[in-house]
Amino acid sequence: MKVELVSYTPNPVEACGRAAGICYDREQKEDYNSFIKRIIGYGHMDVIEHANFTFRIEGISRACSHQLVRHRHSSFSQRSQRYVSEKEAGYVIPSLDYLSAERRKESITLMEDYIRKSYEVYSRLVSLGVKKEDARFVLTNAAETKLYWTTNARSLRHFFIMRLDTSAQWEIRQMAQLAFDEAIKVAPPLFEDLKELRDTGHLRHHVYE
Ligand SMILES: Cc1cc2nc3c(=O)[nH]c(=O)nc-3n(C[C@H](O)[C@H](O)[C@H](O)COP(=O)(O)OP(=O)(O)OC[C@H]3O[C@@H](n4cnc5c(N)ncnc54)[C@H](O)[C@@H]3O)c2cc1C
Repeated sequence: MKVELVSYTPNPVEACGRAAGICYDREQKEDYNSFIKRIIGYGHMDVIEHANFTFRIEGISRACSHQLVRHRHSSFSQRSQRYVSEKEAGYVIPSLDYLSAERRKESITLMEDYIRKSYEVYSRLVSLGVKKEDARFVLTNAAETKLYWTTNARSLRHFFIMRLDTSAQWEIRQMAQLAFDEAIKVAPPLFEDLKELRDTGHLRHHVYE
């Protein structure tokens, strides 16, 4: 999978810091980094809704994208299965590393055979004149997809808190880790209190969302 931060609000920390400054009549802050960290610590979270982040994500399964699009304070543009042929599309399968080597091998073979068969049936249906939007009904949740995702820092923090946790499903957790690594590079104070969660899958201190 690939997660790329393709654009974001210029100077995101300063943008949020200026918004916070207007609340407290302190618009001339010089150190927006410590200011915004303090504001997040107070739980004054509307101010970080002023920074937006746009990710380009590819190589995730439809099982993963379905979970992602449940996050409502976001905008999505996803590769269409109505208009684009899935004949050449790839697929994602889990590592199944919790199984014994023997069971894992057999399970992966079963999955791959089934998924490949679904693509064969799909292609055959399309060649019989079935519309792509109808032929896709035979495809599986493993079908690879790509999308653009735009969301603000507050919603992104909420996503991270839910999806970096060990209780999240492995694929979206991996996606969340990659998105986190991109976001923290350009706006450390907005996300650095979640670093432990990114690394361990657990939060031992209280954070505001
Ligand atoms: C471990 C795990 C297991 C899950 N299992 C299931 C499952 O079995 N079935 C299933 O359907 N989903 C499941 N989900 C998805 C989950 O229920 C949410 O749909 C998804 O995580 C989006 O999160 P959200 O609703 O908190 O946040 P977002 O949509 O990202 O919204 C952020 C926050 O805004 C507020 N908000 C947004 N919309 C509303 C609203 N309409 N009313 C009130 N407040 C709102 C809430 O405070 C919300 O937490 C699971 C998620 C996880 C992490």
